[in-house]
Amino acid sequence: MNLPAPLPLTEAQAKLLALADRLPVVELPIAETLGRYLARPLISQRTQPPSDLSAMDGYAMRSGDTSGPWKIVGESAAGHPFSGEIANGEAVRISTGALLPAKAGAILLQEEAAREGQALSTAAGGLATARHIRRAGFDFQEGDALLPRGALMGAPQIALALSAGHMKFAVHQRPRVTIIDTGDELAADAGNCAPHQIPASNGAMIAAMISQIADNIRHIGPVPDDLEKLATALNHAEDADIIVTSGGASVGDHDLLQPALEKAGFKLSFWRVAMKPGKPLMIARKGKQILLGLPGNPVSSYVTAYFFLLPLLRAMAGATSPLPQSQIMRLARNIPAGGKRLEFLRGRYVGDGVEPVDAMQDSSGLMALSQSNALIERPALAKKAEIGEMVAVFPLNSAGMA
Ligand code: AMP
Ligand code: MG
Repeated sequence: MNLPAPLPLTEAQAKLLALADRLPVVELPIAETLGRYLARPLISQRTQPPSDLSAMDGYAMRSGDTSGPWKIVGESAAGHPFSGEIANGEAVRISTGALLPAKAGAILLQEEAAREGQALSTAAGGLATARHIRRAGFDFQEGDALLPRGALMGAPQIALALSAGHMKFAVHQRPRVTIIDTGDELAADAGNCAPHQIPASNGAMIAAMISQIADNIRHIGPVPDDLEKLATALNHAEDADIIVTSGGASVGDHDLLQPALEKAGFKLSFWRVAMKPGKPLMIARKGKQILLGLPGNPVSSYVTAYFFLLPLLRAMAGATSPLPQSQIMRLARNIPAGGKRLEFLRGRYVGDGVEPVDAMQDSSGLMALSQSNALIERPALAKKAEIGEMVAVFPLNSAGMA
């Protein structure tokens, strides 16, 4: 068989992303937009805060009237403003978040105040100032663009959208994904596994990785290494935007993904990427449907899902920068020279640096992957690197979803 030359990682990522269109737009209640990407910029329909208010508990008075004494003429509490206006020598009890009364321009903090009945004066060192006033519109104003199209909705963004007066907003649909485990050696029941079998673990791992960004996640298999059965499984996934297989993408006699794809009407887009782990990655298309044939070794599956599947899903869901971003960090341990391919070592953050984990760095090594919270990039033919040298690192979040 004539093997195609492996593509450089960034070229392969660009080729994959070029295959994808953003999915249609849906309006959702703000609380349901978590993990989605905005389909248009978020413009504020309100000014926040809507008028000047107090950031502290204390007393409000006129701005030139800073040292007292004052007579307390009323109260402004959160949600219950003082209706009158105040004159020199007058003060209003005010609580955090309450509107400043008309003509007020200074606040005396409660802990700097001395009060007897309605008579108010400063305690030692106390002074009424404008420091604890939040001015109308200091956070944002009506008409401000608060978030760009493509922004990811997280907890703060949900609060921001509500504060800006939106109950619903336009976000993109999320890709529907079918995941297929393949291999004669795979057991569906991890607790009941014959000596010639191993538990199928990739499908569940991939489902977990994409749980925040995909919809209708279906998990099929394990499907045996049988051309007919594999092609049938692929055809069964017709309602998915994305199909993800693991295993069967290499060049062994039982690696049947490529002929099964052909049989099921898919066209190969590209195959093989110059990276370790992850070289046998296979990408194919049928109409608008995109298939990612991930390598079977669990770490290879994980790393290719991280660099290809997640960015593809983010792009389809409307992200404007879907690729993972590396950080430059100090090495906390020496590492030997690299091999011929770009390589990603399973690593851990230590202090302000990063180091490879102790467990076996093999493409099947789930212990090392489970101990890691970062991937350390080793360029092709990298020289040995010593403590203190700077390396590029891709962060993995604690649940591995990144
Ligand atoms: P393959 O790419 O089919 O040659 O598989 C490479 C290695 O990954 C083999 O040792 C398989 O047993 C293993 N493997 C394949 N699929 C899975 C899976 N779904 N879960 C766990 N290991 C797998
Ligand atoms: Mg296999």
